[in-house]
Amino acid sequence: MIKFLDLKAINDVYKDEILSAVTRVVDSGWYITGQELKKFESEFSTYCGVKHCIGVANGLDALILVLRAWKLLGMLSPGDEVIVPANTYIASILAITENDLVPVLVEPSLSTYNLSIENVKKAITNKTRVILPVHLYGLISDMPAIMEIAKEHNILVLEDCAQAHGSLIENKRAGAWGDAAGFSFYPGKNLGALGDAGAITTNNDTLATTLLALRNYGSHKKYENIYCGLNSRLDEMQAAILSVKLSGLDEDNKKRRKVAIEFLSKINNPAIILPEFNPSENHVWHLFVIRVENRDKLIEYLSEYDIQTLVHYPTAPHKQEAYSSLQHLNLPVTEEIHRTVISIPISPVMQKHEISHIVNVLNNYSV
Ligand SMILES: *Cc1c(COP(=O)(O)O)cnc(C)c1O
Repeated sequence: MIKFLDLKAINDVYKDEILSAVTRVVDSGWYITGQELKKFESEFSTYCGVKHCIGVANGLDALILVLRAWKLLGMLSPGDEVIVPANTYIASILAITENDLVPVLVEPSLSTYNLSIENVKKAITNKTRVILPVHLYGLISDMPAIMEIAKEHNILVLEDCAQAHGSLIENKRAGAWGDAAGFSFYPGKNLGALGDAGAITTNNDTLATTLLALRNYGSHKKYENIYCGLNSRLDEMQAAILSVKLSGLDEDNKKRRKVAIEFLSKINNPAIILPEFNPSENHVWHLFVIRVENRDKLIEYLSEYDIQTLVHYPTAPHKQEAYSSLQHLNLPVTEEIHRTVISIPISPVMQKHEISHIVNVLNNYSV
């Protein structure tokens, strides 16, 4: 069986280093907001090319906390509009509604699955205060164009980088473009912890200071609370593990890219729509997403040949029960994506024979 994602194999590469990092934390006697977190925050901000990194409990909290901080700093008010791609994972939208802001769902481009610049321009109103681009499947959005629009209209930009650690455009990484960015280190992400973890990156000193308090009960000094904050901290154990894995992130992304290039050059079944090919480092291939008619038939066929697949995602956020208030929206591109996408296995630890098996099986598929 070719697993969709073999997390054990991915972490086995780092096992000795992870175990010694864990031992170091156990022996330190200090488990929350200590040296390991400081070290990882400093390494990750350097990696992304930003001034500040603030570790938090998970990716959803990272997005929630940035919007919350902007509200506290008087930059956002309830009812303000946030432009977000309609085909994102629901977390991006939850962060908006959690803050009593209004999500404006915008159709993505069918070739990149990311925000369509044309559609962003059309969606801007006098209530638009934030653009929240999501670098979906590992491909950084068209940030130069998004930043230009934001500048012109005096709008904040919050990047959702949960699927795009290390992705570059014009030599600037995901997380370094917007006014702030949220990252997830959920185990299955390109940079994955061995549990839940997340981070915020920003170049803004005031925002960084506010977030340091917000993640820790709204407190800079023990038992002095200036905000009604959260408990959203990245613990020492996960921080130590993330430092180990960050050292291999570029190499892991390179390996993913190699697999993607194999797929893109060898899969030639006209029934299958492949992702847009771009040989640059703007794609870190968190997922390899293809599109087909009659998706269930292909999933069934692949599973007969021992190939595990997943769907990212089967239901669009505006069609979820949780968002019945958005159900009236007419979003044909988004619905087309959710009807036809399948993710095939891709990871830094895939073997040559697994890649060629997947290529052969897909090329022999007939509708
Ligand atoms: C994974 C993910 C998140 C949320 O991250 P968690 O750590 O699971 O909270 C947010 N946005 C996108 C696009 C994601 O893929």
